Amino acid sequence: MESLRFRAIEQMLHHTPVDSAVPTTKVSDYYGMDVFSIDKMRDYLSGEAFESVVNAITEGRRIDRKVADQVANGMKRWAMERGVTHYTHWFQPLNEATAEKHDTFAEPVWGETRALEKFSGALLVQQEPDASSFPNGGLRNTFEARGYSAWDPSSPTFIMDDTLCIPSIFIAYTGEALDYKTPLLRSMAAIDKAAVAVCQLFDKDASTKVVPTLGWEQEYFLVDEALYRARPDLELTGRTLMGHSASKDQQLDDHYWGDIPERVINYMKELEYRCFRLGIPLKTRHNEVAPNQYECAPMFEEANIAVDHNTLLMTVMRRLAAKHHLHVLFHEKPYEGVNGSGKHCNWSLATVEGQNLLAPGRTPKNNMQFLAFFVSTMKAACDHGTMIMASIATEGNSHRLGGGEAPPAVLSVFTGAYLDDILCQIEERISEKTLTPEEKTGIKLDIGRIPEIMLDNTDRNRTSPFAFTGNRFELRATGSSANCAMPLIVLNTAVANALTEFKNEVDTLVEKGVKKDEAILQTIRKFIIESKKIRFEGNGYSEEWHREAERRGLRGIGMVSSAIREYVTPENVELFEKFGVMNHAELEARYEIKNETLLKKIQIESRVLGDLAINHIIPTAIGYQNVLIQNVEGLRTLFADEYQSMASAEIDTIRKITGHVKAIRELTASMIDARRKLNAVENVIERAVGYESNVKPYMAEIRYHIDHLEMIVDDRLWPLPKYRELFTL
Ligand code: ADP
Ligand code: MG
Repeated sequence: MESLRFRAIEQMLHHTPVDSAVPTTKVSDYYGMDVFSIDKMRDYLSGEAFESVVNAITEGRRIDRKVADQVANGMKRWAMERGVTHYTHWFQPLNEATAEKHDTFAEPVWGETRALEKFSGALLVQQEPDASSFPNGGLRNTFEARGYSAWDPSSPTFIMDDTLCIPSIFIAYTGEALDYKTPLLRSMAAIDKAAVAVCQLFDKDASTKVVPTLGWEQEYFLVDEALYRARPDLELTGRTLMGHSASKDQQLDDHYWGDIPERVINYMKELEYRCFRLGIPLKTRHNEVAPNQYECAPMFEEANIAVDHNTLLMTVMRRLAAKHHLHVLFHEKPYEGVNGSGKHCNWSLATVEGQNLLAPGRTPKNNMQFLAFFVSTMKAACDHGTMIMASIATEGNSHRLGGGEAPPAVLSVFTGAYLDDILCQIEERISEKTLTPEEKTGIKLDIGRIPEIMLDNTDRNRTSPFAFTGNRFELRATGSSANCAMPLIVLNTAVANALTEFKNEVDTLVEKGVKKDEAILQTIRKFIIESKKIRFEGNGYSEEWHREAERRGLRGIGMVSSAIREYVTPENVELFEKFGVMNHAELEARYEIKNETLLKKIQIESRVLGDLAINHIIPTAIGYQNVLIQNVEGLRTLFADEYQSMASAEIDTIRKITGHVKAIRELTASMIDARRKLNAVENVIERAVGYESNVKPYMAEIRYHIDHLEMIVDDRLWPLPKYRELFTL
């Protein structure tokens, strides 16, 4: 029988571009049509209900039961007019996926053979999904399997698959958060409070609400679906556990921003169409560096909505790919030897009026305020850099970070030459303590002249994990498959802490009789000095930086299992508890889930590799070796004396195959043995550490031999699609 590989290639050749079925009308005609947005609420809700929802969105006020009934009714009416039959609370449990359980609106009328569509406020507001199988890190025993999902009115309800999806938080019976959204919302409340207090130092009538903004950039790979199905490693682990590099991949830099293959552009167009209907404001699309690697990015939004939109986007992307005979890979490193995928998180703070607090302004006062926020963010990165890195540490991301293509595993901040110069000036000049009145307000220190548009001044340093790019910070270390809520939770909380410190410091100085402007300037200077070690303008990929970072005492994340310990260090527990973002139990739970996920991922990869090595690769190699042996035998019969020299290369190859096969057998046996020993370890944290240090290293070793065999064995016999095939579309 012809191998699966060749049948898959055959199928791939028949996969012609699929029509993207996008209406020819303007985008504005269908943008947001599947979202129960404010403007639709106005049409479908009573005045009272409308006002109540708007208050809940803008001020986080509670919606009372009676009003909730009215809202539910309006939502149902809107949804049913669009053919919706079911509703679901849509939430993000701690397993990097979204969860939904659909209920129909239809309810039979008691004693009669007819049904009525019903949806009450109680059902809208809270659900008990009996979610005993979601990761809960010990927060919830299965015997009291109650987890509750509760409506988050600040993220709009939408329709997908004829189902009304209600963005929700997910909490345990005891009130502890079992999801990403709950702590994200709490961290947003914390930074709102701290940021407003700092704004009011500059203007007592300042804005009353500040929100973090997020603009993510989603990188991904596409692969032909048939080839994907013929690679059990891709199917089961999301990455290739073996595969010799293709003769040509990204060396010529001809993929980045290159023209997009027709199959892919059709996919992208339909993706955009679906996203626009869902109100996801996609803006850019382009080819990325590696073969078949792409990226899309939206206009930034308020962080909670941006996170929901990113998770929703990933769901839409996964589903839509099948229609185009494609499969989308969100793994951080699906292929060895070419670039991996990240999810840059562009983060800033904005007032509800829309003022970007991390953008330099027109006046010296605005610029002092900008600097206050800027140095507080740097201070946060300096004080909590390891926690920020812990928040993005995953098994998948560990294959990408520090590989000379993605930021190193140690956090630093890039400010750009212009700002760096200003920071140095403030540090040096103020220390003379003989400031003129103008200097005290920053005018003479050039603060008044920070150019408003700095985007072009910041020579964008692509090697920095946390770069200031003119009007926002860009966290580049997040992995492509991650829920970006986690790094945002940490960033928001750490910056809230720094801003609170900033305000307290200024207040203390003012109480001591220092004029407010000078107190602010002094505090800015203090923060500049205290966060100096986190600033780095050079090449983050270089060897020197690694040595320099170590000299500065900046800790990088090495093993995932040690990085994630940050979740439970006393300082971090204190930080998150102080701002009510996560309590000790919630952090312990996340720590446990992280360990469990880590060890299970390695366990699965190791099993898949073991299976492929023993049952696919070795038999193939031996099959080919037999062909060679027969050849040598034949030569011996034909050319009795001369055969030795004639067959020397063949004999050499036979030996090489034996060597690789033997190594694969031995290494696989040892790997299985390591697994067996670890499975007897009771404690999940010890088991995770063991998996990472004793099982994971075998993977690369086994792969080494398999990849060499791939170069030796007859192409017609090789069972798995090769890199060069996976890279075609
Ligand atoms: P690049 O690849 O050069 O970083 P992109 O255009 O791909 O640039 O991505 C820029 C991202 O930054 C977009 O998602 C954009 O919405 C986001 N962004 C711009 N301004 C802000 C801001 N104030 N807050 C958060 N994100 C922002
Ligand atoms: Mg970017």
